[in-house]
Amino acid sequence: MPSASELLAGPMRLILNYALPPRCPACGVIVEGDRRLCLDCWSQLEFIGPPWCAGCRLPFAYDRGDGALCGRCLAEPPAHDGVLAGIGYGDVARTLVLRLKY
Ligand SMILES: [Zn+2]
Ligand SMILES: [Zn+2]
Repeated sequence: MPSASELLAGPMRLILNYALPPRCPACGVIVEGDRRLCLDCWSQLEFIGPPWCAGCRLPFAYDRGDGALCGRCLAEPPAHDGVLAGIGYGDVARTLVLRLKY
């Protein structure tokens, strides 16, 4: 049995989408679905994602587990420890910047 909130989720989402069309979190272009990247950003991001360094988001070639750090972060732990969990859309932009850098 779906719960009441699940039954409401569909219509509510339609109303919300009408008022606030979903936008690409990276560049703000209107996209089809909530929290979806536009094609441009997606093509830049598709190789980015876990496994990566928990400190600087440097992608790893293989999964080292949650919270794993790259050699550089192990040697010099990032000063902003604990900030990552609170980062929202700004983090996507940061990931894009990192992606361009590496
Ligand atoms: Zn975008
Ligand atoms: Zn790192």
